[in-house]
Amino acid sequence: MDAPALVLVLRYRKAVTYGFHVLLGALEEHRTSTPYEVRFGETPEATATHVRTALDGGAQRVLVLWSFYSPDAEAMAGELALIRGLVDAPNVAHVAGGVHATAEPVQTLDAGWDVAAVGEGETTLLRLVDAAGDPTGIPGLAYRDATGAIVRTRRPERRPLDEFRGFSLRWHRFNALEITRGCVFSCRFCQTPFMFSAKFRHRSVANVRWHVDAMRERGLRDVRFITPTALSYGSQTDEANLDAVEELLASCREGIGPDGRVFFGSFPSEIRPEHITREALRLVRKYCANTNIIVGAQSGSDRILDAAKRGHGVEEVRRAVRVGVEEGFRINVDMIFGMPGEDRADVEASLGLARELADLGARIHAHTFMPLPGTPWREAPPGDVAPETIREVDRLSQRGALYGHWQKQRDHAVRLAAAADAHPRPGRSRTILPVVDR
Ligand code: SF4
Repeated sequence: MDAPALVLVLRYRKAVTYGFHVLLGALEEHRTSTPYEVRFGETPEATATHVRTALDGGAQRVLVLWSFYSPDAEAMAGELALIRGLVDAPNVAHVAGGVHATAEPVQTLDAGWDVAAVGEGETTLLRLVDAAGDPTGIPGLAYRDATGAIVRTRRPERRPLDEFRGFSLRWHRFNALEITRGCVFSCRFCQTPFMFSAKFRHRSVANVRWHVDAMRERGLRDVRFITPTALSYGSQTDEANLDAVEELLASCREGIGPDGRVFFGSFPSEIRPEHITREALRLVRKYCANTNIIVGAQSGSDRILDAAKRGHGVEEVRRAVRVGVEEGFRINVDMIFGMPGEDRADVEASLGLARELADLGARIHAHTFMPLPGTPWREAPPGDVAPETIREVDRLSQRGALYGHWQKQRDHAVRLAAAADAHPRPGRSRTILPVVDR
């Protein structure tokens, strides 16, 4: 058998499979004159073995594809060094994609990757394959030229979601289906609007149904969705569009069949509090199997919600949880501690809300604020949680009313801030941000 011109080795980690499946879904339908192969590196060592096998097999070029979130960037740079120590050659290039590489391409190159993929990856990958792995001039990339100067090509196009498959049939890799990309809200701590634009792009009901039918044919029974805000499906504004949601859910329910299950507004997506109404929750109950929903609250302080540009207040959160409980759902509420400008009174307000919602039967999913690259709060101080807050949060978690990786996120927040300080944006420096006056 002839050696492939190009071998793509995915550094295939459980945390980021979805991003790769979407790329594979685009690739499997793409006609190209480049002979290529795809291999899955499930550990750093397996990744190095795939690279070595490809080189030994005569591949002209090997691209190792990476995808990671900002909190994982440092650990992934360590893995990259490990893999390079095991195998390296001039025709092997390590390409980092995902939200961190998009927000911090220079930091990504400085950390050791050869190429940073900026923005949505589908069209970029297809062009890279067409060019047999040569990144020169392909939109959506940053890399160094022969002199070491950084080259940044133009942003790749943002295409309608229906143009690409949401998972891969050829490689048998399935995942929750992305039904909406981008977000019209502009929460200052969130990377989504920056990464995918401040507009919604929705996968059509017919296209979603095609995916559901394909899953059922392969014996898969659970349909879950990836969306920034579940009840925004079909909407172009900050209002929910329940007709579109019902059309979607009814079609999925029918498509997956009597043994199948549809999940909406639960992991891995969530619902904004102001979108929760009895009518909306009754649609979920009518078509879906989930008995829990996730509500994004983020803070118990209106002052902090305003500063974060959340677009809702504390009262909407209370109302959403009450309605949800009355409609028979278990409610998980996302909250972020250590937001920029938060003072003792704001923290007390968040803890008070957490206790109140826990008494209603909700569970609090606690996070620590992280100054994420690409967000308006990149230069904000890392989330700091006072010892008395930690004690109260611990009490709630011992009651089973609170869960989450908030301690780990405190460490991530500090590391992200240090990495950003090493790559300052012109005219921006880390500062204690003023919020709004009391
Ligand atoms: S937090 Fe949710 S609602 Fe806010 S911008 Fe991000 S995705 Fe949109």
